[in-house]
Amino acid sequence: MNKRLFDLIGLVLVVMAFTINMSAAVPSTPEEALAELSAGNERYVNEKSIHPHTNMDRVAETAPHQAPFAAVVGCSDSRVPVELLFDQGIGDIFVIRTAGNNVNSEMVMGSIDYAIEHLGVKLVLVLGHGSCGGVTGAISEGEDEHGNIGHLLDIIRNDVSDYVGKPDCLNAAIHHHAEVQVERIIAYPHVAEKIANGELLVKKAYYDVKTGKVTY
Ligand SMILES: [Zn+2]
Repeated sequence: MNKRLFDLIGLVLVVMAFTINMSAAVPSTPEEALAELSAGNERYVNEKSIHPHTNMDRVAETAPHQAPFAAVVGCSDSRVPVELLFDQGIGDIFVIRTAGNNVNSEMVMGSIDYAIEHLGVKLVLVLGHGSCGGVTGAISEGEDEHGNIGHLLDIIRNDVSDYVGKPDCLNAAIHHHAEVQVERIIAYPHVAEKIANGELLVKKAYYDVKTGKVTY
């Protein structure tokens, strides 16, 4: 390879690295926030992730304060790594993960409120996913779990009571469960007010563990 070509390739790589990690335009509306997550998932599914905002410059840039554009309430399931599947980096999204992505607790609702009120996120996305163990456990009629796991499953079960004993309806239960969480979040007057003003969007989404695709 001649030297000039070698230098040119080097320059292209430097520019690419810079472009990927520089601060792209931050979504400033709910629609832009959703479009950004959607575009990130598209890259991820097509194995074209750019892994933005992952270098030490970004670490330094975000050290004094954070301003994520979206909050995602996802499941703790190891197959649903939220930043990766939306191809986002440090400081981009505020992620709350619990087994089963249920928001019916002060800890989770407090976390969502913090993201809305203090960090100014434009979008709250409740992300259910295929083969969710939390929802599977909640609708199964097997031996009851006890202790903390039993408590968690009871909370989820309350929201999917129509599906208990219907394991064939797991996917419908997962969708319904995410929808109930959205309704629970938007029932708060301060959230409803922001939605009415066009400052916030609260939406459910579904992650397919077989394809990596998010549908809204
Ligand atoms: Zn799950």
